[in-house]
Formats: sequence, C-alpha cells, structure tokens
Amino acid sequence: MAGPSVQFLGGVREIGGNKIVLTDGPDRILFDFGPSFDPAYENYFRDFLQPRSTSPIKDLLEFGLIPRIEGLYAAEALAHSDLPYRAPEFAGVFVTHAHADHAGYLSYIDPEIPVYVGEGTKALLDAIAGSTSQKYGDHDWRTFRPRAPVRLGRLEVRPYPVDHSIPFAFGYLVHTSEGAFAYTGDFRQHGPRAPDSHAFFEAVRDAHPVALAMEGTRAGPDARENLSEAGVRSRVDAILGQTDDIAMGCTYPRDIDRLTTLYRAAVDSGRTFVVSYRTAHLLASMASHFPPGGIPVPGTSPNLSVYGRRKKVYYAWEKPFLDDAVSAEELARHGARYLLALDFYQFPELIDLRPPKGSPFVHSMSEPFSEDDLNDEVMHRWLDHFGLRFHQAHASGHASQTELFDLVRQTDPKILYPIHTQHPDAFLRLGPRVRPPELGAVYPLAAGP
Ligand SMILES: [Zn+2]
Repeated sequence: MAGPSVQFLGGVREIGGNKIVLTDGPDRILFDFGPSFDPAYENYFRDFLQPRSTSPIKDLLEFGLIPRIEGLYAAEALAHSDLPYRAPEFAGVFVTHAHADHAGYLSYIDPEIPVYVGEGTKALLDAIAGSTSQKYGDHDWRTFRPRAPVRLGRLEVRPYPVDHSIPFAFGYLVHTSEGAFAYTGDFRQHGPRAPDSHAFFEAVRDAHPVALAMEGTRAGPDARENLSEAGVRSRVDAILGQTDDIAMGCTYPRDIDRLTTLYRAAVDSGRTFVVSYRTAHLLASMASHFPPGGIPVPGTSPNLSVYGRRKKVYYAWEKPFLDDAVSAEELARHGARYLLALDFYQFPELIDLRPPKGSPFVHSMSEPFSEDDLNDEVMHRWLDHFGLRFHQAHASGHASQTELFDLVRQTDPKILYPIHTQHPDAFLRLGPRVRPPELGAVYPLAAGP
C-alpha cells in the first residue's frame, strides 16, 4: 500500500485558504477548509454577492475557488454541480483555529466526516454562528485536549496550542508510517501565548520532521510595523494619557487578546471600555473558557459597558445587553470617561456622538494591504469629516520573516513547504529543503536519505 503523502489544495501562493490532505495508505485526513482572502474569493464574491445556497459547490467550482475533490462534500452542497457525491474518503478534518480562511467552508463538508477542533475553538465557532450569517454546518464534532493524541489508522495527530490573533489556535504534529509531519497553522510568538508557540516548535524539532508545512504570511516584502501586543498596549496608554475627550478604537471582531488589551488600557486610565452587542455576546460566550479575570466579561468585569446602538429590531442574542447599555447621549456628555470600540460599519453613530475635534481614533488592525483599499479611503473620509486624530496601533497575528527563518533552522525539517503566503520563494534562501508546493501536486513523505 502507498506510503504517506501530502497534497496542498489551497493556501498555495495565497494568504488563507489552507487545505492540506495527508494520506497514509488507506487513511486520509484534511487540515483546514476555508476560502482564500488575498483576495481570490473576493475577486468574485463580496458583500451580498455570494454563492447560491442551493448550489454552493457548483458556484465556487465555476471560479476555481474550492477544490474538485470526491469523498469530501455533503450531498446537499454538491446539488446541481457536475461533481458526483461519493461516500466519505476522509477519516477526519482537523481545524487549526476559528478564522474564516481556515474554517469558512466547513459547512460544505459531508456531515458523516468527523471534524476535530479544540474545545475553545468549538465555543468560538458556536458564538460566531450564533451572531452572524457565517455557518459551519452540522457535523460529528470531536473536541480534543491540547497535546492529547488522536489516532486514525496509521496516523496519530497531536494538537499543540500556539499563539495567534484569535485564542485557541493549534498547530499539529502528525506521526505517519514514514516519520513526523508538522503543520503550523497560523501563529506568532509576540502575543500573550508566546510560550505555547515555543513549546510547539520544540516538539516539532524533537520529532525530527520529514516535512513541515509552515505559514509564511509575513515572508517577503513587509513594510508594516513590527509591534508586539505589549507594544500596542504602551501606545494606547500614551494616546489615552494625552486626551481629555472620548477615545475611540476599532479592531478585528474576534481578536479577544486585543479587546483585552484595550479593556486594560481603559481601566488603567480610569475609563470604561464600551463594546458592541456582538463583542459583548462573544466575550460572554467565551468567559467560561478563560480563567477569572482573563478576559473582560459583560455584567461581571468592572469598567466594561455595552454601547446602546438604536435598532428597529433586536436579535435574541442582543437583548440581554440592552438594559444596561450606555447611550450616545451619555458618551457625548461625558466622553472623557470612555474608550469606545467603534467598528467601521457602525460609523453612523459618530453623527450622534459628535466627538470633540482632535479626539483620538485608534486603528488597531492591519494597515491596508493596497493603496486602493476602498474601506480605508471611506474610513479616513469619516475621520476627517469629524476632525478625529488617527493613530495606528496593531500587532500582527503572524511571525515575522526573521522568526520564520529561525524556526526552520531550529526545527530542521527534511522538507519545508511554505504555505499561506504570497511569497513562498522568499524561503528558498534557506536551501534545497524548501519546496514551494504546486497546487494539487502529491508529495510523498519519505524518511529515507
Ligand atoms: Zn489564516
């Protein structure tokens, strides 16, 4: 029977969209399954222009946005496509973390195939599905514990926690019949869980991997600033120390670390951190997965409030936060008491808030990737209109190129597959072990010389 092999069906010369098939004889598993955002998916589908729910696979196959693979998809998702339904040929799907580019296509997977996730990731997926239009489908969900092995035939999969810009992210170390294969998922080592990333790469090094699939988001030209989470905190502290007006900021909706950083900065400057209904719902849903005081929790943590955005209709998950919500009038009257989390899509609230000219707005997200980022232009137009002062303060969810290269040397894999990067060739300077993968090619894992 054939020896182990690895195949990359996404994340090849693109950021996001990792889809890694690992096969060992009769045993086959998949790592991650989401759309690419750089911007392959958004070249065709954006905002309300989306695949039809009656024929999602057909619509995605039209533009090559999902792999043509049998024995993986649900019969329902395949409806009207030319890809025939086949009984499952995968023993399991392993998800590294709850970001859309790794989990966003899970709803298309055959519900007969078990989906393995960390307990925290399952809670995050539930919170996201419960408060947005993103759905992940019905599955045979199997939650694992960190470092506890999952055995599927010849394959033994060990999940290791890593530091990333969403909590409960994992890398995987897999023992195959020809040695160890490791997959980093997305990771960094400058956030609050940096020791987890170090421990993962030590385990990878000790396993003498025959192959390592490493994310390389920041490989190649990267003009953006290299801040740590602690660096973000000091910058926000300085901004809050320089104003007696309302302070505002925006970040990624699932970046619980950043929300915690902003919360602590608010508390230490004597302010109350005010979040949206959706953020409040996420934090309340995730509270039990953190030690007490680990993250801000609505209704429990001091100096934490919810912004009472007026709506015609409220979702059931928003209603628990309405009674104690802070109004725009209160924020306008006593701005100096607050740090308001204000997402781009909630900018019309500024019309009620009327912040004093020069009030700070902290952009705690990645700088725009391109010069012609329309949202970026619109954001700055709004900030200019209200005379707000713009500050950039962000720490990436990904390790820098220097760190990536150091980790390759330390873990010493026989073969390195750079994925989740637009610049896999940047790794070539690390020598002949580097193999930028071709989309869909099958690479045997061989322990031999
Ligand atoms: Zn990613």
